[in-house]
Amino acid sequence: MEKIYMIPVNDAYTDACGCPLCDLKEKAERNYLEYYLGPSLMEPDTRKITNKTGFCPDHMGKLNRSVTNRLGLGLMMHTHLKDFHADISSDLKNLVPTGSGLMKSFNTEYKGRLNAAADRIDSRVAACPICDKMNDAMKHYVEVIAWMFIHDNDFRTRFSAVPFHCLPHLSMLLRQAATLNQNDAREFVSVLAEKNYNDFESLIDDVEFFTLKFDYRNQDKPWGNSKNSIQRAMRFLSSDRRDFDEQQSKKQS
Ligand SMILES: [Zn+2]
Ligand SMILES: [Zn+2]
Repeated sequence: MEKIYMIPVNDAYTDACGCPLCDLKEKAERNYLEYYLGPSLMEPDTRKITNKTGFCPDHMGKLNRSVTNRLGLGLMMHTHLKDFHADISSDLKNLVPTGSGLMKSFNTEYKGRLNAAADRIDSRVAACPICDKMNDAMKHYVEVIAWMFIHDNDFRTRFSAVPFHCLPHLSMLLRQAATLNQNDAREFVSVLAEKNYNDFESLIDDVEFFTLKFDYRNQDKPWGNSKNSIQRAMRFLSSDRRDFDEQQSKKQS
């Protein structure tokens, strides 16, 4: 098993105050954002890739917000735009359907060609080396988690004690469980299933209590765990915490 993935996995499961896989994902993302804002942007090998891919809308936003290495971003953007332009713009001119008229026969081939051009644009817009690297890292993390659960009793205890696994990461863990032998999968999934059941139950109770607090008769009752239950439910459902932190909703209210 690859040691370089074991250390961050151990750390994430030691200090977990939410879904440990969300923490791992966030750290991986921060590393790759830094990498692509660093000297790598000037390296020909990296540029060969980013000329083709650019970055997905989400990561472009994050690169933009970090406000470092504007020159590097500008150079990357310049050659990526040129590559994209060369790939699609001339073709697009050729895709303009010819007019149909009395003397001309109907030709509906343009429909397929327009859809194919749209598909090509969509896939280029979505392409992103940061997403690719993160997906790759997450795949390794999940492999290591299942391996450590089976081979390391201390880790198994920590795994069973984390606050929760969000649903998108539960799904990744289940896919990993599907690669294990039946006995290992049984132990792994029984812990996941038990935790998941309890997580849903307590979140449902907390969110319900949140709604009941709007009833004037409950006005003076203490909030208990329910004050941030909407944000916790959103994090649980989405694995994404950017817009679901409690500070954000305070600003809005
Ligand atoms: Zn998660
Ligand atoms: Zn991305």
